[in-house]
Order: sequence, then structure tokens, then C-alpha cells
Amino acid sequence: MKAFGTEVEVWLLCSCCVRNAVALVFLYRLPWKYNSEMKEEIVMSSNKQLIDKLHEKKGLTKDEWIQLFESYTEEDRLYAAEKARAVADSVYGKDVYIRGIVEFSNVCPNNCLYCGLRAGNKNIDRYRLDEDDIMECCRDGYKYGFRTFVLQSGEDPHFTTEMICRIVKRIKEEFPDCAVTLSIGEKSYEDYKAYRDAGADRYLLRHETANEEHYKKLHSESMSWQNRIRCLRDLKSLGYQVGCGVMIGSPYQTSECLADDMIFMGEFKPEMIGLGPFLPHSDTPFRDEPKGSYETTLFMISLCRLMLPEALIPATTALGTIRGNGREQGVLAGANVIMPNLSPVQVRDKYMLYDNKICTGDSSSECRGCIENRMESIGYKVVISRGDHKKL
Ligand code: SAH
Ligand code: SF4
Repeated sequence: MKAFGTEVEVWLLCSCCVRNAVALVFLYRLPWKYNSEMKEEIVMSSNKQLIDKLHEKKGLTKDEWIQLFESYTEEDRLYAAEKARAVADSVYGKDVYIRGIVEFSNVCPNNCLYCGLRAGNKNIDRYRLDEDDIMECCRDGYKYGFRTFVLQSGEDPHFTTEMICRIVKRIKEEFPDCAVTLSIGEKSYEDYKAYRDAGADRYLLRHETANEEHYKKLHSESMSWQNRIRCLRDLKSLGYQVGCGVMIGSPYQTSECLADDMIFMGEFKPEMIGLGPFLPHSDTPFRDEPKGSYETTLFMISLCRLMLPEALIPATTALGTIRGNGREQGVLAGANVIMPNLSPVQVRDKYMLYDNKICTGDSSSECRGCIENRMESIGYKVVISRGDHKKL
């Protein structure tokens, strides 16, 4: 009996335990599940509310930006993309502007830690195009419908202010219906003024990061964030259409850095915004750093479009490098510009800012055709136009 009783007792105890345990788990899990779902819902809906607020007010507080970057979901990203695309359509319709880039020199005295053209990279075949080569690239481009030429290079001291001015003047004389964009780095106010007087219309100089501490971690000591920002302000004051921008996911970048970028761009109001994922280059100190996020790049494009509806935002080559259809997705997220390469094919693989850059083997006409098809496949059309910034 005793033994039986004990057995019964044990059994009773066990069944109690089991029931209690089940009840406990049930009681514990129910509110936990309920809470977590509620929490998720609150976070999600509040991210959507932030996106709505951005759409309406064209800005967010620093904490709100940080929340968005830290907690956005795929659903939030697509929500922002849809709104951003509608905004872009309302300003630029289904038009996509193209710019032909001429990468005329890969010589650079700077040592940006991320860039394959940095002076410290001895494993690169340096080249320069001469003025006639550059003109030939523009002629080719004009034939294929380009009405903006972007001259980009390292900060090559061989190209003096006079030379740059002469090249700009030659292009403007031969192609008066075209815009010239320069992307040749940090210069003095006087230099920028001279280029502008020679006819340059636009200038691309990514700020890279609006956070000074972060900037220091990406550049050598000879470069300063203060000077970068001074350049951007000088360019604005001279009446250029100015492009700034960032690499998404550069080493040491945090959500706070991205928040600083958004706040900076909201105040600076650039006419153009260059956004691409950071991609490592194997001959730089950042060779082992992870790539930037494709999704965050698309999200940033959408947020920038919502904040600055008239901005000219390219779907960058880096975006097309990280994902085969990245440029199409960039346009669907709110971008409205594509910048195919017009450099001679012989030098293209020498202008390697990062590894595996796309389109290094295609001729200018192939690039042009390829972009046209890609845009058509998503319902957009490449237009023959200077594609200036629209002031609404
Ligand atoms: N020398 C000029 C223009 C050439 S570099 C300048 O620095 O402004 C153009 C842009 O390429 C840079 O602003 C940078 O944002 C981008 N870039 C350089 N290295 C890169 C990398 N590893 N991954 C992604 N983008 C990079
Ligand atoms: Fe030179 Fe521009 Fe590359 Fe810096 S990012 S090393 S300035 S080419």
C-alpha cells in the first residue's frame, strides 16, 4: 500500500508537475508571445509612421533616423521604396537620365583607405588620357545620346587648373547643348571658380560620411572632414549643381553615422546624391572588410528621395556590382539617373575603385544599349537630355 501510495503520490506529483509546467509555460508564453507580437507591431507601424512623417515633413530627428536604420524590416524598406518611387515619378515621370563618365586619370596622391586608386596601392597600372582622348570619348558619347559628360579622376596634379578649364571649354564649345560635371576631388575656392567660369555645370564630391570621427577612420591624416565640407559649401556658393553622398556600410559606419548623413543632406540640400555600397578592394587596408548592405543602400535611396524629392539620384555602378539587377532595383527604389562608362575600353579595368567593378569590358555603345534595355524592362525610359535638377 505504502509503496502503491507512494507510487500514486509520485504519479500525482508528476501529473501535477506536468500540468503545472504546462500551465506555467502556457501562462508565461501567452503574454510573452502577445507582448512580442505587439512590440513588433508597434516597432513596424512606428517605422512606417516615420516613413510617412519623412514623406510629409521632409525630415526626422536624429533619434528617429537611428531607430529607422536600426530596426527597419524588409516590409518597411519596400514601403519606403513604393512611396519614393511615386515621389520620383511625380517629379521626373518615367524618365531616366544618363551621364557618360570619362575616367580620365587613375593617378591620385591621396590615400583614402577604401579606394583602389589610393597612392599606396603599388599594384596598379596608372594611366592618363590626354585632352584629345577625352574629346573623343565625348564625341562617342554624344553619338549615343549622352548630353552630360562627367569627368572623373584621382586628384592628379598633372591636370592643372588651366588644363581642366581648357577641357571644359572645349567640351562646351563642341557640345553646347551638353552639361559638364566634374568629379576631381578637393580643390581651392579659386580652382572651383575657374572651372565654373570655364563652363562647368555640376560637381560631384561625396562627403563620404557626415561624422567627423568616422571620416578620420576612412582617410589618411592629410585629409580632413572640415576641408571636404568647405569644398561642398564653396561649390554651392559658386552656383554648381552639387552632388554629395556616401558609401553604405563603409568600415566603422554605425546607424548614428547614417543618421548624421541624412541630417547633413537635409540641411545641405544637394542637387545630386551618390549612394553605393562599400565594396572592398584587395589592394587596400580594407581588403578584408565586409561589403556594405545592398538592402540598406536601396533603403537610403528611398529615404533620400522622400527627403529631397527633386534630387538627382543615380543607381550607381557599385549597386550594379553588388547585385546583377541592382541598378533596376535602385530606380524602383527612387533613383532616376544611370552613369554608364565612356572611357576607352583599354583603360577601364585600370580604374578599379573596388574589386569586380562591372562593365569594364563593354564598349560605350554596348553600355548604352544595355542600360536602355534594363530600364525598359522595368517600365522606364532613357531620355536624351541634359537632365538638370528640377527646382519645384
Ligand atoms: N577622386 C575623386 C573621384 C573618384 S572616387 C573623389 O574622391 O571624389 C569616386 C567615389 O568612389 C568616392 O567618392 C567613393 O565614394 C567611391 N569609392 C571609392 N572606393 C570605393 C569602394 N571601395 N567601394 C565603393 N565606393 C568607393
Ligand atoms: Fe583618390 Fe578619390 Fe580614391 Fe580618395 S577616393 S584615393 S581621392 S581617387
